[in-house]
Amino acid sequence: MSTQKLEILKKHFGYDSFRLLQEEIIDDVLAGKDLMVVMPTGGGKSMCFQLPSLMLDGVTLVISPLIALMKDQVDALKANGIAAAFFNSTQDAAQQEDLYRQLAAGALQLIYVAPESISLLNNHLQQATVSLIAIDEAHCISTWGHDFRPAYTQLAYLKTSYPQAPLIALTATADRATRADIKKQLAIAHAGEYVSSFDRPNIRLEVRPGNNRLTQIQRFLKNYQDQSGIIYCLSRKTCESIAGKLSASGYSVAAYHAGLEASFRESIQEQFIEDEIKIVVATIAFGMGIDKSNVRFVIHYNMPKNIEGYYQEIGRAGRDGIDSHALLFHSYADVIQLRRFADGSGNAQVQIAKLERMKQFAEALTCRRRMLLSYFNEYLEEDCGNCDVCLNKPDFFDATTNAQKALSALLRTGERVSLNLLIDLLRGAQNATVMESGFQGIKTYGAGGDTSWNDWQQYIIQMINQGLMEIAFHEQNHLKVTAQGKEVLFDGREVSLAVIPKASDIANKKIAQ
Ligand code: ADP
Ligand code: ZN
Repeated sequence: MSTQKLEILKKHFGYDSFRLLQEEIIDDVLAGKDLMVVMPTGGGKSMCFQLPSLMLDGVTLVISPLIALMKDQVDALKANGIAAAFFNSTQDAAQQEDLYRQLAAGALQLIYVAPESISLLNNHLQQATVSLIAIDEAHCISTWGHDFRPAYTQLAYLKTSYPQAPLIALTATADRATRADIKKQLAIAHAGEYVSSFDRPNIRLEVRPGNNRLTQIQRFLKNYQDQSGIIYCLSRKTCESIAGKLSASGYSVAAYHAGLEASFRESIQEQFIEDEIKIVVATIAFGMGIDKSNVRFVIHYNMPKNIEGYYQEIGRAGRDGIDSHALLFHSYADVIQLRRFADGSGNAQVQIAKLERMKQFAEALTCRRRMLLSYFNEYLEEDCGNCDVCLNKPDFFDATTNAQKALSALLRTGERVSLNLLIDLLRGAQNATVMESGFQGIKTYGAGGDTSWNDWQQYIIQMINQGLMEIAFHEQNHLKVTAQGKEVLFDGREVSLAVIPKASDIANKKIAQ
C-alpha cells in the first residue's frame, strides 16, 4: 500500500515524498475515517483527497467555494492524467448534461462543486458511487470563522446521504472552537483531527533596538561559536560591509546578494550547506530552496518589509527542531526607508499596511509569537515563554508627564518636526539642525533634558504605537498629534509606557544560553 501511494504520488503529481501529515491523513481516508484537517496555506491539503481519489472506486466529491480557482485546479489535474471536472453556475445546460452523463458512466475520479450548486447535482450523484467527500475551505461553514458562507450550512445531509464515503473537512484557519463547530455542522462530530501549525516553537523570537547593531551582533555570536546562521540585510552594500567586518573579527563568513556572479553565489550556498562557511550575510535573495537543517540563528540586520517575509526567513532556522534564535533589529530609519519603497510600489496601500503590521510586531510589548501567529489567524491560548517579551516582561510606569512634554513640544512647533528633531528640542540640544529650525525658543525646549536620547526615542515610538502621535510619511516624516494625543494634553488622559531596559541590562540579559 505504501509503495502504491508513493508510485501514484510520483506518477500523477511528480513528487517523491509526502509532506508533513499527508501520508497519515491519506491512510486514514483510505481506511474510511472522517477527518478534520487544518494545515497552513501551501501545506498541501489538496493532496490529502486528490491522491485517495485515485485509489478509491467511484467519484470524489470536492466542495470548494472558490469558483474562480476551480477551473485551474481541474485543468492541472487533467494535465496530470486525472479524470476531473467541475460543476458550477457558470456552465451552460449542455455542459451540465455532459457532466451528468460522465457521472452516471462512472467516468470521473473527482468532481469539484460550489456549495451553492450542489443541490442541482444530488440526483445524479445518487446514481453514481461517491467514494470520498472533501469539504475545502471548511471554515466557511462556521459563523465563528472569518469567511462565513450560508450555502455551507446546507451540507450536513452529505454524511447521511453517503454514509459509506469518508468525509474530510480541510481549512487553513480554524481554532479549536471553530473546528468543533465545523465537525458538528457536517455531522462528523466523532471525526479525528489533524492540525499542523504555523508555530515553530523551537525558534526563540527576539527584537532589539537597532543601535550599535554590529557590536550587538558580535556579542550575540559569542553564544553561537562555530554554528551556522544567516544575517539578512536590506542592501548589497550593507551585506558586504557587515561580512567584511565579521571576517576581520575572525568569523567564517561570506556575503551573498544578487550582485554577485551566479557561479560564485552557488559556491557560497554549497559551502554554507556543507558547513564550510558558517555565516552568510545576505539579501533576501538567499535562502529560497535551501534545505539546511542546522541553521541555529537568523538575524535581521534590517527590518523585513512584511510579516510573511519575516516568517519565511526566520523559518530557515531550526528545521531540525533544536533550539534556535531569530533576532530582529528594529530601527526607525529602516521603517522610513521601507515606507519609501512601499510608496513607490505598484500596490502601495497594501504594502504600507503590511509594513505597518511588521512595525507593530517589532514594537509589540506583548508575546511576539502570539502576535506573529495571529497574523496567520492562529491563536495561541497562552504566552509562548520563548520570546523576548515573555522572558523579560516589561515594567510599565506612569509616563503621563513625559507624554505631555513630548506632545506639547510637538504642537508648539506647529507639528513640523521629525522624531529626531523633536527629541533634540526636548533635550535642549544646541546642534545646527535645532538652531536652523528656529524652534529653540519654544516653551518646552529642554523640558526633557533629564531623559536620555535613546529613552526618548523609545518612548516616542511607543507613543506612536499607542496612537498618541503619528508619522506623516508624505510630509517629510513630520510627527502629528492625534486626537488621542490631544486627550493627553487637554482631557487628563493618562499614559503608561514600558520602562526601557538599560543598555547594561540588555548586555547582561543572556537571552541566548
Ligand atoms: P493548500 O491547499 O494546503 O494551500 P496545496 O494543496 O495547493 O496547498 O499545495 C501547495 C503546493 O504544494 C502545490 O503546488 C502542491 O502541488 C504542492 N505539494 C503538495 N504535496 C506535495 C508533496 N508531497 N511534495 C511536494 N509538493 C507538494
Ligand atoms: Zn512569547
